[in-house]
Amino acid sequence: MQAKTFKGGIHPKDMKEISMDQPIMTLEPGKEMVFLMSQHIGAPAKPLVKKGDPVIIGQMIGEAGGFVSAPVYSSVSGTVKAVEKRKNALGDMVDAVVIENDGLDTESEYTPAKLDALSPEDIIKRIQTAGVVGMGGAGFPTHVKLSPKEPDKIDHILVNGSECEPYLTSDYRCLLENSDELVKGLTCILKIFPKASGIICIEDNKPEAIAKMREAVKGSDRIRVEVMKTKYPEGAERSLIYAVTGREVNSSMLPADAGCIVNNVDTVIAVYEAVIKGRPLMHRIFTVSGDAVANARNYDVRIGMSYADIIEAAGGFQKEPEKIISGGPMMGFSLFGLDVPVTKTSGAITCFIKDPVKESVPSACIKCGRCVRGCPAHLMPCDLSDIAEHGDKEEFAARYGMECVECGSCSYICPAKRPLASNIKAMRRTLLAERRK
Ligand code: SF4
Ligand code: SF4
Repeated sequence: MQAKTFKGGIHPKDMKEISMDQPIMTLEPGKEMVFLMSQHIGAPAKPLVKKGDPVIIGQMIGEAGGFVSAPVYSSVSGTVKAVEKRKNALGDMVDAVVIENDGLDTESEYTPAKLDALSPEDIIKRIQTAGVVGMGGAGFPTHVKLSPKEPDKIDHILVNGSECEPYLTSDYRCLLENSDELVKGLTCILKIFPKASGIICIEDNKPEAIAKMREAVKGSDRIRVEVMKTKYPEGAERSLIYAVTGREVNSSMLPADAGCIVNNVDTVIAVYEAVIKGRPLMHRIFTVSGDAVANARNYDVRIGMSYADIIEAAGGFQKEPEKIISGGPMMGFSLFGLDVPVTKTSGAITCFIKDPVKESVPSACIKCGRCVRGCPAHLMPCDLSDIAEHGDKEEFAARYGMECVECGSCSYICPAKRPLASNIKAMRRTLLAERRK
């Protein structure tokens, strides 16, 4: 069967070979663990502990700050060292609980459940209580995503196993190593939406993962594997929905308006742990890659661990990096330093000896049209970038600038090295902030 895809897109070198054959290794947590109270979209969590309090694994240390929010749990046992502001990956100072790990791993007791005994409401409640959020980067609370206005209209639950971002291989390893948990998590979600099919979407550059997942879904009449064409950004929510269903989603719609809910691989596994095991979200799978690291790896890391400890576990740097990115090179963002903790949404760190952006000198547009052909949102990035540079907000909105999904394809493909995506992104963020006010 032909691989499914969307219109537009680009073909960056995927560089997956650096880490894709590295099985997931569980990392020991650090001595000091930092739990940011804002690891999700929505109201930050409110700290429930104070300096000097003893804590154990699985203890709620931050309660949800509202419905669109999520609680935070300690992933280690020890003592609260401080409740103070700490730096997040973007360099902002945010509320955090700092815990001195005692190394004893004293853990809470959880309440497992059988799926047959749970109603859809019970399932959503268990996901909410466990603090599950979208772990692909967005951090949208999963219980909110699974509570659309018209649940009867949901006919597709998509699992985004595309992992189209270069260098990243954590989802790939999960598909290979945690296939049963993934199917169980998806089965939990399907119980909320009785009319929906579950579709696990995997790009055709991952034949082993496709075979493994096809084996895992054998016997299920509601779950299937769909093969996606290897193309960036295949895994972007709107691209994936279009590729699988042919339905278009724009910036004024939610995927649920097109009958779809999209979750990433790690999130669905976290749903399984929350619903069936009763275990809150306290760990995630994390890729370390790039030419500057001594050993590219995939790790199972506890949330709260510092990037510095992870890099050290990977053998440090073989050469001092000029650029360190939280995430992958296309959609990730540059880090100021490594004293940043892993959150529910941080999936990778990529470190480069040379910063290719620093070396590129923009020149005049040669009107080649590559950015237009590559844009998955069918925009004119060349024009939008100029409009953004001139600060013309009305024109930017009138030319559909808000439909940009910030994928970076236009900048990547531009032979004149124009900073198209960053100009468009900056204007888009300004307009979004104004609209929120
Ligand atoms: S960053 Fe925006 S404008 Fe550029 S290709 Fe992606 S969606 Fe299109
Ligand atoms: S890709 Fe670059 S050079 Fe080509 S049309 Fe777009 S902005 Fe101009």
